[in-house]
Amino acid sequence: MKPIRPLNYMERINKALAEFLKPKKPGEMGLFLNPEIRHDDWCKVMKGKPECNCSPDIYIELDDGRFQITKAGTLKKVGI
Ligand SMILES: [Zn+2]
Repeated sequence: MKPIRPLNYMERINKALAEFLKPKKPGEMGLFLNPEIRHDDWCKVMKGKPECNCSPDIYIELDDGRFQITKAGTLKKVGI
């Protein structure tokens, strides 16, 4: 068996976006704004490299508030 690789941050965003859009009707896009990706100071991205080797905290604004995208790629409400 292959070890389960943790989701990278783009996969986390894509998964959360897919979850968010699933219950919506066609043409009803909803609001998905201002993704904020907080990499660790030691992450390669912070040194100008394209690949991320940390597990950043990701926040995003949706119709109904601000959410954190968890390491599993799910949405967790974090405030108004
Ligand atoms: Zn990173």
